[in-house]
Amino acid sequence: MTPPMLELRGVSKRFVKRLDLAGRIARALGSPVREETVHAVDGVDLQVREGEVVGLVGESGCGKSTLARVVAGLHAPSAGEVRWHGQRLQDLDAAARQAARLQVQMIFQDPFASLNPRLRVAELVGEAPVVHGLVSRAQRDDWVGEQLRRVGLDPTLADRFPHQFSGGQRARVGIARALAVKPRFLICDEAVAALDVSIQAQVLNLFMELRESLGLTYLFISHDLGVVRHLCDRVVIMYLGRVVESAPATAFFDQPLHPYAQALLAEVPRLEARKKDFLAITGEIPSPLDPPSGCHFHPRCPHATERCRQEAPQLKEVEPGRWSACHLQG
Ligand code: SF4
Repeated sequence: MTPPMLELRGVSKRFVKRLDLAGRIARALGSPVREETVHAVDGVDLQVREGEVVGLVGESGCGKSTLARVVAGLHAPSAGEVRWHGQRLQDLDAAARQAARLQVQMIFQDPFASLNPRLRVAELVGEAPVVHGLVSRAQRDDWVGEQLRRVGLDPTLADRFPHQFSGGQRARVGIARALAVKPRFLICDEAVAALDVSIQAQVLNLFMELRESLGLTYLFISHDLGVVRHLCDRVVIMYLGRVVESAPATAFFDQPLHPYAQALLAEVPRLEARKKDFLAITGEIPSPLDPPSGCHFHPRCPHATERCRQEAPQLKEVEPGRWSACHLQG
């Protein structure tokens, strides 16, 4: 069987919160204060097949953006491995690793923050393909024009700076910049969350047109299950650094299995009154500095038992193609 395009095996990402000066002095004076570790991503297994659109969903702070950055190569994993077409990235030589990295591009929520305000669009979109030898400097402007046309912008706008565009146009510039290095895999990190609903729909349609015309694969990160339902083939739910459910989108929206996923879905408002975030699951998401024992969801779960407080459930295939990490499912 062909290996997945992207595979994560047991990927974790930890961040150590260093002591500030006051903390270091307190420790020197005998205080028990110590550095803290944030387990942003905790042993995640994930597969994405070529051509799939996978929606990665969870509340703020669940680790989905950190996971996206690991996939994009912006963070090195603290443990586990990332495979590209079946090959471990760390086994590739530098040139092959760079080529694999280039095929995975990330589109950010706030294009204004991710676009250098001092550069014109021609440079923002055209520099990376020149630097990586995908086009010559002489071909740059034609290449930029092609990318702008592809995302629905007039190529004559290449002389402008980011602040001269509307929010929707800036989002398109961000997409053009990602496309300019001929990626095969796009990670969209809340890529439409900051846009008005009507502009969101246009940009989502653009993603789907690009999927069709360029054969792209997507990891689509969102807190908005309405958007995920519209767009994705498969849904992966994260809670406090761990994957708790993975399922084909149709089956998931018919009947989510994990209690957290059920609670999320129960909160999805009607599309016409879509809210910006999850609100009504009882209790706050716990701190990743001090996650609950056993199943991380147990303090908020209506079905929690003593076993849940003590033993972390493993992610298991409970039906063909459906995975859940909950003691209720065995
Ligand atoms: Fe709830 Fe227990 Fe399942 Fe966790 S393992 S989701 S606490 S029933």
